[in-house]
Amino acid sequence: MDDIADLFRLAADEAATYRTSLSDRAVADTPDLGRLRAALGGELPRQPTPADDVLRQLVTAAEPGVVHTAGPRFFGFVIGGALPAASAAEIVAAGWDQCAFNTVLSPAAIVVEERAGAWLKELLCLPAGASTGFVTGAQEANTVGLAAARHHVLSEAGWDVERDGLSGAPRVRVVASVERHATIDRSLRLLGFGDAVIESVHTDSNGAIDTHDLARVLEDGPGGPLIVCLQAGNVNTGACDDLRSACDIVHRHGGWAHVDGAFGLWASVSPRTRHLVHGLVLADSWGCDGHKWLNVPYDCGFVFCSRPAVHQAAASYAAAYLVGSGGVATAGADLTLQSSRRAHGFAVWAALRELGRDGVVELVDRCCQLARRFADALAAAGAEVANEVVLNQVLVSFGSDEDTDRVITAVQGGGVCWMGGTTWRGRRYMRISVSNWATTERDVDRSVAAILEASRSIGSVTS
Ligand SMILES: *Cc1c(COP(=O)(O)O)cnc(C)c1O
Repeated sequence: MDDIADLFRLAADEAATYRTSLSDRAVADTPDLGRLRAALGGELPRQPTPADDVLRQLVTAAEPGVVHTAGPRFFGFVIGGALPAASAAEIVAAGWDQCAFNTVLSPAAIVVEERAGAWLKELLCLPAGASTGFVTGAQEANTVGLAAARHHVLSEAGWDVERDGLSGAPRVRVVASVERHATIDRSLRLLGFGDAVIESVHTDSNGAIDTHDLARVLEDGPGGPLIVCLQAGNVNTGACDDLRSACDIVHRHGGWAHVDGAFGLWASVSPRTRHLVHGLVLADSWGCDGHKWLNVPYDCGFVFCSRPAVHQAAASYAAAYLVGSGGVATAGADLTLQSSRRAHGFAVWAALRELGRDGVVELVDRCCQLARRFADALAAAGAEVANEVVLNQVLVSFGSDEDTDRVITAVQGGGVCWMGGTTWRGRRYMRISVSNWATTERDVDRSVAAILEASRSIGSVTS
């Protein structure tokens, strides 16, 4: 037992040393996959290795390949960070090794999810009676939400899709904006719809769904089962669909409205941004991430459904061995795609407790304010900010597509900060996403200086 205690202390020490090094170190070392592969060993070892040696070897070999996304100047993707209490809870949870299947296997994991789920619904202004599944991320959340949608619209048409599948089923119309997230297409493929069935709706100037076009598309097509995927938080621009109008239109046509709110759903927590997701409560299901803007460690997301019975009908399963094992009560495993699940709730509970309502609001407000700080400083220096910065996303051009890509590459190589690139409406942009609890104004100012230096070094438009 002494050994395992020492080993865990060593692991916690390593995690602590790493985490406290982040504010000042380069965001990423130049990746050298060959060296990483060599350092991580060739053949499967035949003989056992003492656990403390294994840990030291892993840290030494793998750390050069760790990207410091948990640090304050990683602005690529929409990556979030990991709050102190949430990270610590995750470390303890690894020690507990709980399977969040049901209340027999882990009463703590299930009750923590109940509490954290209720807090999330309150914060996000979702109906208190909605069901909550703790999933691995928005991809799974969207898949489960759309499975609930599929169940509901087909059941209204007299078809039991869980029993009879989609062969011979009434045709379901699936409608989404042209700027939906690519994971929606994969969810639809996995659910047997295929992505070719999607009827695309135009977007407005900032990438939110054009509700007039939505109304036109719905009126032009046949009646019958209908699912509409809406979005809070366009992955490029941060734009949120007008959910009130869109949900009204969808419901007038008897459809199910699912909202992909991977990061944009968090706009709902703050009085400054809540108007962006006005009408959110009218939707039928919602997908959201914990590992992005809530800053809990990967992998963690949530699916909410306004009709718990529909959610359960679409996602639960039964097996003989579960009867008498507590497998009959609705629990974690009945609202997600996993049977055995990591206990995601501990870190979420810890993050919400650590921040409190005020802290979550402040986190969202600060990220939005820092995104505007980026946009203002870069625009003042002559770069072009292409989107209306309504949330935490900024798209920046440095002249031609080639120049923009050269600036992005130079910034990534510089190590001060990391931003990705994207193509939006046929043009290349640097894509800046602010979603880390640890990012400060100083981090933004340092990053702006690095970007402008990179842009000068390639002779682009900025002064
Ligand atoms: C990130 C994202 C997803 C996918 O979420 P994962 O957490 O990667 O599963 C879906 N939709 C939007 C809008 C996103 O930003």
